[in-house]
Amino acid sequence: MVREIFEIKDKSLAGRIGEILTAHGKIRTPTLFPVINPISQEVSLEVIKGIGFEAIITNAYILKKHREREALEKGIHELLKFKGPIVTDSGGYQILEYGRVDVTPEEIVIFQENIGSDIAVILDVPTGGYASYEEAKWTVEETIRRAIISLKYMKRDKTLWVFPVQGGKYLDLLEYHARKALELPYDIVSIGSPTQILEKYDYATIIHMIAAVKKVLPPSMPVHLFGAGHPMFIPFAVALGVDTFDSASYILYAKDERLIFPHGTMRLKELSEIPCSCPICSKFTPQELMEMEKSERVKYIAIHNLYAIMQEIKRVRQAIKENTLWDLLEERSRCHPSLFKAFKALIQYRTYIKQYHPMVKAEVHGIFLYDVLSLHRPEIIQYHDKLLNNYNPALHEGIAIVLLDIEEKPLTRTEFYTKIREIIDKNNLKNVHILVFMPYFGIVPEELCETFPLSQHEKEYDDNVLDYTMNITEKYFRKNVSAYSKVVLVVKKENKKLAETLWKKLKALFKNLERITYENTAEAIDKVSHVMRNSSMGSSL
Ligand SMILES: [Zn+2]
Repeated sequence: MVREIFEIKDKSLAGRIGEILTAHGKIRTPTLFPVINPISQEVSLEVIKGIGFEAIITNAYILKKHREREALEKGIHELLKFKGPIVTDSGGYQILEYGRVDVTPEEIVIFQENIGSDIAVILDVPTGGYASYEEAKWTVEETIRRAIISLKYMKRDKTLWVFPVQGGKYLDLLEYHARKALELPYDIVSIGSPTQILEKYDYATIIHMIAAVKKVLPPSMPVHLFGAGHPMFIPFAVALGVDTFDSASYILYAKDERLIFPHGTMRLKELSEIPCSCPICSKFTPQELMEMEKSERVKYIAIHNLYAIMQEIKRVRQAIKENTLWDLLEERSRCHPSLFKAFKALIQYRTYIKQYHPMVKAEVHGIFLYDVLSLHRPEIIQYHDKLLNNYNPALHEGIAIVLLDIEEKPLTRTEFYTKIREIIDKNNLKNVHILVFMPYFGIVPEELCETFPLSQHEKEYDDNVLDYTMNITEKYFRKNVSAYSKVVLVVKKENKKLAETLWKKLKALFKNLERITYENTAEAIDKVSHVMRNSSMGSSL
């Protein structure tokens, strides 16, 4: 039976804010578990906790090898002097590094429960980034075999167990492996061994890997991504539904004198100022850090790195709350070309993402639209879906008045609209429909203008966006060709090219296609009402 250990509190895209319930308290997600070295740890656990990390991860294999008796006697919380949740990894990563470990899958399962791990991982066989398909397939089959055997040795009373999914960059293997998670009583799924792929900045491949696994799993299953600790990538992984991360990057980068920032990484010696206000960067200049003892410097850079990671985690959580995670992705995608590529890869999963994205929350935040990529955000896809599949205009052989360049929103509160509506109502011109052409959205019928996000967005657009919008508009009229016997395109003189382009698209659909150009609103109202009166059938005039 699967235990109820994960509670989802809030959502944006396919990302979520949640809580994992462990024997040593709740872990708020998304979050990262800093990797703690059980032999020598440069940054104290008090400092790590103080920065905001509620849970840590350490290596049970190393612990068993070097401090076994002490760990069994004291338990891991007492040994590390950490009261919060402790995650232990099994040594799988050491297999990837050294080819083998001298512990059996059974031994490491029993050991992790005996030392009181809150979340533990079976001894899997990581695929790594360089495996051939055959090798990868073997790691998957062997990890599954071990997952089944390991169950026999688990008490599963306090420890939550992680089911590692392998397969490397082979998506069919990842999917196959993830499906096995549905058959076995594990609490958390992890996606294994992206480290070597991440080292090459190949974020797009990781996006495909995450999506392959997530699409198979129920949303109630928390998902961990192993070894991905750079804050630059965190928002993208979270947007696909990754809940927890672990990483030693804070200390590994520090040893290399590199500072982590939400937008990238920089070498200490290249910095004349540190663009950060964490307690370390507020206290020391780059010069002062350079002049310290190496061990001191490493410690301080590591603390800065932890602050930078936590800053991004908080930023992501807040974006989920505000439902602006997409906007954060657009912003972060410009930090590095490989992230831009990752963003484009993520867009391929827009249907999956839309499925979980809450379109509206109690507190409405407007959306920002920048270029063609913004056409893929869930709100826009949903609008196109609604317009082209679920919406039917309530008229037959009527007149469509299409306003091409009304920028104010909502349309229903513009002077132009209210005046035309007044004329329509006064003269009982029932068969007239007012529509507005809106970049990104396509056609917006008057009765939909006030729905979210038609009047809650800010936009900038180019010809590519206009082309796309024209095509949506054409599709709308093609689908509803019987609703209108006449279409009138209304446009300001300076934008008449817009009307020409649309004219070309619609002329095959409507014999009765007209254009009105105008210089000011009074003129427009006059011309439109003239056309309506002359051509409205069944009018009282
Ligand atoms: Zn700092």
